[in-house]
Amino acid sequence: MRILSRLFALTAALVAAVGVAGAQSPREEVFGLLNLDMPELAAVKAHYEEGRVEEAAEALLAYYKGRTHITTPDIPNPAAVSISPTEQKWADEALEHTFFVHYGYQPSFNYGEDIDWRYWPVRDNELRWQLHRHKWFTPMGKAYRVSGEEKYAEEWTKQYIDWIRKNPLVKISKEEYEINDESTAKADAENARFAWRPLEVSHRLEDQTLQFQLFIPSPHFTADFLCEFLVNYHRHAEHILGNYSERGNHLLFQAQRMLYAGTFFPEFRRAEVWRESGVGILNREVEVQVFDDGGHFELCPHYHLATINIFYEALQVATLNGFKSAFPQSFVDALEKMAEFYINICFPDYENPCFSDAKIAHKGEVIKNYRAWLDVFGDNGLVRYMATEGKEGALPDYESKGHLTAGFFTFRSGWGEDAVQMVVKAGPKGEWHCQPDNGTFELWYNGHRLMADSGSYIYAGDAEVMKWRNWFRQTAVHNTLTLDGKNLQTTESKTLLWQPEGEVQVLVTENPSYEGLIHRRTVFFVEESYFVIVDEAVGSAEGVVNLNYQMPVGEVRIDGEKMRCESLNAFDSNLTLQCFAPRGAKMVEAEGWFSDKYKSKVERKRVSVDVTKSATTESVRYVTVIVPHKEAQNGPKISAKLVGEYNPNGVSVNVKVDKKSRNLKVKF
Ligand code: MG
Repeated sequence: MRILSRLFALTAALVAAVGVAGAQSPREEVFGLLNLDMPELAAVKAHYEEGRVEEAAEALLAYYKGRTHITTPDIPNPAAVSISPTEQKWADEALEHTFFVHYGYQPSFNYGEDIDWRYWPVRDNELRWQLHRHKWFTPMGKAYRVSGEEKYAEEWTKQYIDWIRKNPLVKISKEEYEINDESTAKADAENARFAWRPLEVSHRLEDQTLQFQLFIPSPHFTADFLCEFLVNYHRHAEHILGNYSERGNHLLFQAQRMLYAGTFFPEFRRAEVWRESGVGILNREVEVQVFDDGGHFELCPHYHLATINIFYEALQVATLNGFKSAFPQSFVDALEKMAEFYINICFPDYENPCFSDAKIAHKGEVIKNYRAWLDVFGDNGLVRYMATEGKEGALPDYESKGHLTAGFFTFRSGWGEDAVQMVVKAGPKGEWHCQPDNGTFELWYNGHRLMADSGSYIYAGDAEVMKWRNWFRQTAVHNTLTLDGKNLQTTESKTLLWQPEGEVQVLVTENPSYEGLIHRRTVFFVEESYFVIVDEAVGSAEGVVNLNYQMPVGEVRIDGEKMRCESLNAFDSNLTLQCFAPRGAKMVEAEGWFSDKYKSKVERKRVSVDVTKSATTESVRYVTVIVPHKEAQNGPKISAKLVGEYNPNGVSVNVKVDKKSRNLKVKF
């Protein structure tokens, strides 16, 4: 066993050695990777063919120092960059090896005088992965250009080479991996899972084109360094080519960045292959990942926006470098639909609901996106309206809007800050970033988000990290119905009715939530001012049915007896929520949180209305009336009662809000 394991270690070490530096030195290897037949590289070729490798490398450096015909949208003019105070801080801290890795972990950690690229102070995978995105490198480049100080360039080249040396691309077989052996190869392979994860590699692939442009004038950017850089860069692109993620946003990021690589370094023999691979995947995936209504299949507003930007950036690179026609009009049309979708589900302050793994993207960032997108679809009145804050463009002829394939439904009384708006999420099974939350919603009124989704808080890591991830993902911390507080077994909502116009607007949606329990939710938006929600849990399952509601952050008065919750905000945006449930129902308070960004959370109240259901009870039915209003303590008197028994084809409910009674009735 010992001998066998040594043998494995030896083979793996050999693989590692080849992987790191190749059989040749970078200076020799690089010429095999380049297309020396390009007229621009004639001088390089002449030296190389005469065996003058050193002169060839110098000629290559001279070529790149003078190259101006290839541009990237991120830095159109490297000589005119500016730097923000935050970027300056990251650049300066990086000189001391304090690396900005993640906003969730501030202040940044120091990685030691002799950089330890395997340092992992908190066992959150993101912290380990994102170290390898080198987010401080581009700021160092900007600091270099703005100040002219060589210390940034010198340090960057050192860190760049240090990273190559200490993060070899090593793969070992599963069998080798399972041998309990302290070999360097195993440790390197373990590390490569983080350092060479294709998503991280793709980040570097794009960002290094910026760093290349920013640092190229420096005397520290030597011919030797250039050779190391190009060989490393080539290894990056080839690694992605053979290791694309199977699907989802990762695949899109990787494809878009392969397009970048192939465009920025056309001197590589493989450039065309990289570029075509990126274009091919993006053209294919726009069909796979984007629904006919413009929704993205991860059903997460954050990745929806990111996906638009991936497609947009690919288009920009193609346009700037003369191959826009690689993307057909249908690609641009899908992008435009995605933009409209995003605008439709966002609140009047431009912020998105926190469904699935979404964080809040703030107005400043979003409006920048809208302005940029006008390059591509400047004729779109809604995008223009949002981009110019209403100065140009036009609002559409609708207010409420349903996206039936993705299952996002927006009720709105208007587009202004004083509007009432509810966004319901009730769609198909979503991909990785989606949470099991069918039927949930967010509520906005008069400038404020009143019932927000709990958010996501953190992604993946050790047990402590996973405890929090699972807390925020769970169905019960959404505004929807659960059985015994468990996560939904099936997330496949069907829309039974969507009626987005008139005095009473209606959505009826149904999800086969658990074995033996269907959840049908009917939402009435009455006179564009309040909501009546009828929840029906139907089937032979037994257990405790919970109707869950997440309260606004801040003070909330909960009257368990009346099953009534009232927010007590000092600003002019409050709600009264009252639930009417079968005899024996109890309103229970539980732990509640709201997270609008990674690793940040605030406590809030959460309630559930619990009803014990036996196998012979056909259905458990609730009515909830939610009335948004300005003043605290001034909520309306509310009563509600279902009319008749459970009906598979209709709902009828009598509601009284203050003195006004009405019967809400719908058939489907
Ligand atoms: Mg959620």
